[in-house]
Amino acid sequence: MPAVLNFNCPFCKKEKSIRYSASYNTFHWHQWSDTKSSYKIEVFPVQKCNSCWKYYFLKDQETRESWLWPKYKLVEERVGLFRRKRFKKVLVHEAPTKIDDWDLCYPEVKEAVEQLYSEELDDDHIYWLLISFLRAYNDWFFRKNNDDENKKIETEEDIKLFKKYIEKLYNVIPEDNVIFRGELLREMWKFDECIELLKNKKLWNVEFVKNQVLEHAKKHDKNMFCIEKHNS
Ligand SMILES: [Zn+2]
Repeated sequence: MPAVLNFNCPFCKKEKSIRYSASYNTFHWHQWSDTKSSYKIEVFPVQKCNSCWKYYFLKDQETRESWLWPKYKLVEERVGLFRRKRFKKVLVHEAPTKIDDWDLCYPEVKEAVEQLYSEELDDDHIYWLLISFLRAYNDWFFRKNNDDENKKIETEEDIKLFKKYIEKLYNVIPEDNVIFRGELLREMWKFDECIELLKNKKLWNVEFVKNQVLEHAKKHDKNMFCIEKHNS
């Protein structure tokens, strides 16, 4: 059942509510190489206050859960050749009046990194901040950017920023997480280093993922890609 997570901004104390789980997308889901998955709706680790506009780490806030209770609602529908109107009853989850979107977009994540990143952050916070940067960057330029009209093109400046922060993310990923380290090298255009890291590793149950990362690296393709699509 869809649930709501409530917490307060650490700066101005304004409450925020976000939807954080849903069961509607289990038949058609994607797993991408930058670790994003559409199967499970994850709460975005960095949040933006909609009152004072500052950014903060969700993991540092006290959170409270509530549920969205289902209820029946009458909806109007047109049916048949003559497009008659009829009413039918459907089950809906009635949302509270104000639920915020939980994913930051790339321009916001850039601001968040400027506000929150410092050399004093521990590895865990660096991980959550920069994994947010990675996913938002890939959303913005590749994942949600399929129609030509709205196509966004990376500038030299974007690429420089990406390489700078993904290098820092790479440094906090444990050495035994070989595939993700290889993937980050590839996304930083370090194709030879990626191939060198992965080529002689046997990874048993995730061998097929390693092989896909290697294939893309050999083609000098640095973009994230879809590892698996499930349609049933
Ligand atoms: Zn605030």
